[in-house]
Amino acid sequence: MLMTQTHLKQRKWGKQADSARTHLQGDALCIRCEAVYHDQRWSIDSNLRSRLEATPSTLHVLCTGCVLLQELLIEGTVTLRRTLDWTLERCNEAIRMCRHEEERLHQKDPLHRITSVDIDDTQLEITTTTEFLSRHLARRLERAFGCRAMFHQAPGEKYVRIELF
Ligand SMILES: [Zn+2]
Repeated sequence: MLMTQTHLKQRKWGKQADSARTHLQGDALCIRCEAVYHDQRWSIDSNLRSRLEATPSTLHVLCTGCVLLQELLIEGTVTLRRTLDWTLERCNEAIRMCRHEEERLHQKDPLHRITSVDIDDTQLEITTTTEFLSRHLARRLERAFGCRAMFHQAPGEKYVRIELF
């Protein structure tokens, strides 16, 4: 049962990321982060990385996640409206949690990245390279801070805009 769920999740991520994915002939290393490319997909795997580093035919490129980050291509925006109880301290706590979740998902699929974090007196705004990560962060913020999320997404569009109140 657990295996089936994991399998489904991976398939969903793969499909979602498809349009942006690089298709390389052979194995590769990302020159900016720890990602490795093997069997037509990017992942984080330190053993595989050591092996590929020692292989002369390994390509050295930017992984899809790093390309998205560099081009500031985003699939999601999470905007938290700062009501009175959203002190700077509480916002920082929320940002720390989001960074932690980014790191966790990034280990599973290097495509998931936070592109920007902006905060002012009225709102906290986080953008991400994948729709999946934005939805994930919104759900975590809902659960941890008791706020409510509203999702805005045009039919057939990947880009999602999420407001948290
Ligand atoms: Zn990379």
